[in-house]
Amino acid sequence: MPLDAKIPGGPLAQKWDRHRFELKLVNPANKRKFEIIVVGTGLAGGSASATLAELGYDVKTFCIQDSPRRAHSIAAQGGINAAKNYPNDGDSIWRLFYDTVKGGDFRSREANVYRLAQLSNDIIDHCVAQGIPFARDYGGLLANRSFGGAQVSRTFYARGQTGQQLLLGAYSALSRQIGAGKVKMFERREMLDLVVINGQARGIIVRNLVTGQIERHDSHAVVLCTGGYGNVFFLSTNAMASNVTAAYRAYKRGAYFANPCFTQIHPTCIPVHGAYQSKLTLMSESLRNDGRVWVPKNPGDKRSPQQIPESDRDYFLEEKYPSFGNLVPRDVASRNAKEQCDMGKGVGATGLAVYLDFENAINRDTKSVIEKKYGNLFQMYEKITGEDPYQTPMRIYPAVHYTMGGLWVDYNLMSSIDGLFVMGEANFSDHGANRLGASALMQGLADGYFIVPYTIGGYLAGAQFPEVNTDHSAFKDAEHDAQSRLNKLLSINGKRTVDDFHKELGLIMWEYCGMARNNQGLEKAQKLVRQLRAEFWENVKVPGSAADFNQSVERVGRVADFLEFGELMIIDALARQESCGGHFNEDFQTEGHEAKRDDENFCYAAAWGFSGDDGQPQLHKEHLVFENVELTQRSYK
Ligand SMILES: Cc1cc2nc3c(=O)[nH]c(=O)nc-3n(C[C@H](O)[C@H](O)[C@H](O)COP(=O)(O)OP(=O)(O)OC[C@H]3O[C@@H](n4cnc5c(N)ncnc54)[C@H](O)[C@@H]3O)c2cc1C
Repeated sequence: MPLDAKIPGGPLAQKWDRHRFELKLVNPANKRKFEIIVVGTGLAGGSASATLAELGYDVKTFCIQDSPRRAHSIAAQGGINAAKNYPNDGDSIWRLFYDTVKGGDFRSREANVYRLAQLSNDIIDHCVAQGIPFARDYGGLLANRSFGGAQVSRTFYARGQTGQQLLLGAYSALSRQIGAGKVKMFERREMLDLVVINGQARGIIVRNLVTGQIERHDSHAVVLCTGGYGNVFFLSTNAMASNVTAAYRAYKRGAYFANPCFTQIHPTCIPVHGAYQSKLTLMSESLRNDGRVWVPKNPGDKRSPQQIPESDRDYFLEEKYPSFGNLVPRDVASRNAKEQCDMGKGVGATGLAVYLDFENAINRDTKSVIEKKYGNLFQMYEKITGEDPYQTPMRIYPAVHYTMGGLWVDYNLMSSIDGLFVMGEANFSDHGANRLGASALMQGLADGYFIVPYTIGGYLAGAQFPEVNTDHSAFKDAEHDAQSRLNKLLSINGKRTVDDFHKELGLIMWEYCGMARNNQGLEKAQKLVRQLRAEFWENVKVPGSAADFNQSVERVGRVADFLEFGELMIIDALARQESCGGHFNEDFQTEGHEAKRDDENFCYAAAWGFSGDDGQPQLHKEHLVFENVELTQRSYK
């Protein structure tokens, strides 16, 4: 069934303005009659809750952590894009729009991306007004730096902790509304199910992670801002609590899941160093502004980097992509690093690493300049590896970082369930098959501060809301389902830990549905995931009790969902018989080993619908129409 994205008519640049005018408004005095549930307090959820409450709605906000400001967004390092063109280097809304569509390998929706580029400038103004301490140049103007996939400097930053500073801004706005009584904050709650009544999202079921109690919460609309699902790979740069549960439960209640196989593998992470590791650390893309990526020219060269003369070094990104050099987009940089390592040119003990070298930059700009720009990142690298990156090049390797796939949403950010809105990394919206650096923060804040406050009003003003409360049978049934599932998981009392299953799933996904895929491997992975899932339900062990704070209980539910969702990723990867962005099927590549798209047959967003535990997911296509951008083979040469 083709999907209707409800893209407004008219010229691209006027769609959003016109749409805002045409959307119905809720009378200010009526706003307090509506209750909205927001799940998640990262940049998307924090900004949405604060803004909706500021508008006058009654908001109930939920998060897993003990405080809203511990959401994963706090980890974001490098920066946030905006088309301000402060450096006067040729940027514009159109260029940001174009770079983003091209960066996403022409698998995103033009109208959404254009709106994102327009709103990017409002975000910076808003955040400056909040007091976010963006870096400034000598004269006091906001400073910019470059990120991958762009030839202009449009990234605003606060050293290597941009996410933290932006989140403090959203959190302050949220706290103001908590103080004013307009937001009721529920920390340490995990959403286990969505309650749908008469086709409308009317509430959620959560588990209180401290007491273990299952709770029901009703509302007129639900906004999911629950982040990405990169932890399906076990090892990723995401926070430990990042998961797919809320989105996956919504999928099982009727929301379509779009492009689940589009995963971003970030090229500059600290390489895996042992079997007991549970987390990977990102080295921000901003480092590629000054760091040069290289490997020894000759496979098997085990000399230390200082002993390898210039003539024996291969600056493979600069060589192959002279226009963009080290700042090619992430999918391109990651694939090239892998290719070098596959040829035996990888460095370090495992051979699964390439160098990121600052020697030239330090000689050119001095150590203190480099320290000012990246000091905290260098310190982090040294703490983890024991090596001083001012003296010796960093060793880096690609790792799972971000998920472009997510719940399908229309132009209003509403899912295929009425009244269920999805924002930030949890939706599939703007990044196509590959996200450009510094654009996730931009998207989350555009969604939360500037889009949903309008579009949710349009929905609330236009829909009918039968009287519903938490005694409704749909709430009882959903609570019963959640409790029974948990009881079943706890009663298994098998021999393998939750993490043990999670690790094995991660290895399967990385090997067969990771940086490179092929049909044979994907088919094998599907079988392996099914076998593992079957064993999980017979042999998982959850120590302790569900009646108090117990992280094994939290994780077992999340891993159970990952074990189902992993298969959906594989099904999606198998269905897309082309390569694009982060989805690189080895059977579809150009002579230069770049992703080879098939626009004739696959120029669509694949939105999967649940059709029962024993049924096959149903594919719904949103055909992508490009009226303003010409579809071309992506080139960064
Ligand atoms: C190390 C790192 C660095 C990054 N740096 C940058 C950068 O420099 N620039 C950039 O643009 N992007 C960056 N990104 C990406 C960016 O940080 C994320 O995409 C973005 O912060 C996601 O925000 P969010 O609001 O969608 O979700 P999150 O910040 O992940 O928040 C999710 C929220 O949902 C809650 N939640 C989740 N599941 C449930 C549930 N079942 N029940 C209740 N609550 C739930 C969590 O408690 C949390 O509050 C980086 C990512 C990483 C990993």
